Amino acid sequence: MGDPKKELEELHQKIRACVACPLHRTRTQAVPGVGNARARVMLIGEGPGRMEDLKGEPFVGQAGQFLDRLLASVGLTRQEVYITNVVKCRPVRGAPPYENRPPNAEEIAACAPWLDQQLALIQPKLIVTLGRYAMEAFLPGKKISEVHGKLFSRGDQIVLPLYHPAVALYRADQKETLIEDFQIIREVLAEISSGARG
Ligand code: URA
Repeated sequence: MGDPKKELEELHQKIRACVACPLHRTRTQAVPGVGNARARVMLIGEGPGRMEDLKGEPFVGQAGQFLDRLLASVGLTRQEVYITNVVKCRPVRGAPPYENRPPNAEEIAACAPWLDQQLALIQPKLIVTLGRYAMEAFLPGKKISEVHGKLFSRGDQIVLPLYHPAVALYRADQKETLIEDFQIIREVLAEISSGARG
């Protein structure tokens, strides 16, 4: 077996060079992902926003600061987990300076092979989807308001759909739910460590 860290960096380089969909034309840079090549937890968001496009790292804006606090609340850091998005380039609308928008189905489909390769390389035990676009990639047809905070099997992996931290920042009810749901990560990791799972 090769060195996962090196393989992940090589994969990141390929993602940075990707021109598979039109989003490459308006990006400053692609945002492959950040974190540990052997992470037990992979968190998957929607797509880079303005700040992420400028920095080349996922979740660095306000939602990212909130995500870091959520991770800290379950004893995790950015370096221990792996964070990425269903699309690696910023979806924009309008003319420069663009506005953020959600990714569309074609963009998500064009980018899916990268997420597949990230999953194959890192092999996380727990996949945490943030928001409805990431949830759709694993649990098509489900409603996030019905399934958030519930655990789903994906082979020997577990999928935990959660609300998106950016939405939770302006919806007080979702914020409280997200904080509560996040604690499930600690429980699942404890079960995995004790051998009760996986
Ligand atoms: N929102 C996301 O879904 N992903 C990011 O990287 C930043 C904000």
